[in-house]
Amino acid sequence: MIFILMVCLLATAQEAVPAASGAKGSEAWSVRVNPARLVNGAPVFFQVTPPVALSALTATWLGHSVVFDSDSGKAWFSLAGISLDTKPGRYPLHLEGETREGAKIAYEQVFSVAAEKYPEVKLTVSKEYTAPSPEQLEVIKQDQEVKHKVFAEITPEREWSGKFAAPVDAPISDVFGTRRVFNGVTKSVHQGLDFRVPPSTPVSAVNAGRVILARPLYFEGNCVMLDHGQGLLTLYLHLSELKVKEGETVKRGQEIGLSGATGRATGPHLHLAVRWQGTYLDPAVLLKLSLPGS
Ligand SMILES: [Zn+2]
Repeated sequence: MIFILMVCLLATAQEAVPAASGAKGSEAWSVRVNPARLVNGAPVFFQVTPPVALSALTATWLGHSVVFDSDSGKAWFSLAGISLDTKPGRYPLHLEGETREGAKIAYEQVFSVAAEKYPEVKLTVSKEYTAPSPEQLEVIKQDQEVKHKVFAEITPEREWSGKFAAPVDAPISDVFGTRRVFNGVTKSVHQGLDFRVPPSTPVSAVNAGRVILARPLYFEGNCVMLDHGQGLLTLYLHLSELKVKEGETVKRGQEIGLSGATGRATGPHLHLAVRWQGTYLDPAVLLKLSLPGS
């Protein structure tokens, strides 16, 4: 009886008082983040223990809808992120849960996001990439349509499980977030992590997922995109060879292609990108996270 009473009290409190830190009943919520220091461009792993067992938990975070998973209903987790253009500041994670009795409970916790320091480099690339011909522009346009279609599909279920594994065993040649100046004109931000690998090195899936794209693209070269569910994708660029087909499911560590230098590449390397709900995140941080599952 005490348990049921507590649930009702919580539900009433949340209706009367908008969810806020210090709201009635909020003492029992526990929200942990990993990494502990939140920065722009990084993934963030949320672990939430609500005051009572829930049947569902969702959140809003930086304008994104975040779905949480749980094995027991007591401990909930979700992998989310902070876009590169997020300004330093304090941002709320607004949680909404449903108890097993059908009552709604809510809680809000504010997190500080700091500005990460990313490097800047100047590069020279062949002219065709800075001034594409009309034929090349047509190819680029078609690529954009393909990517737009692929990015629009989101698998609601989580496919990933456990720690993400590096796709190759190789040194890093360029970090995520590097500001690039091409031929002194075009500016871009490096939205992936580059591994220095010789051509034809086997590249493996960082976690379980489904192949949503495996084809040549103008800038990316031979490219594989994996959907790990809940808006999380990984992309593998500049491959010399593709070893998977679109629609196939893959396991962590499964070979998906061979490294190369196709597309916009100054030399052979693997560019790994992590995309979460339309924003690119630092793969190096994701690869370091310890995550639940086998
Ligand atoms: Zn790269």
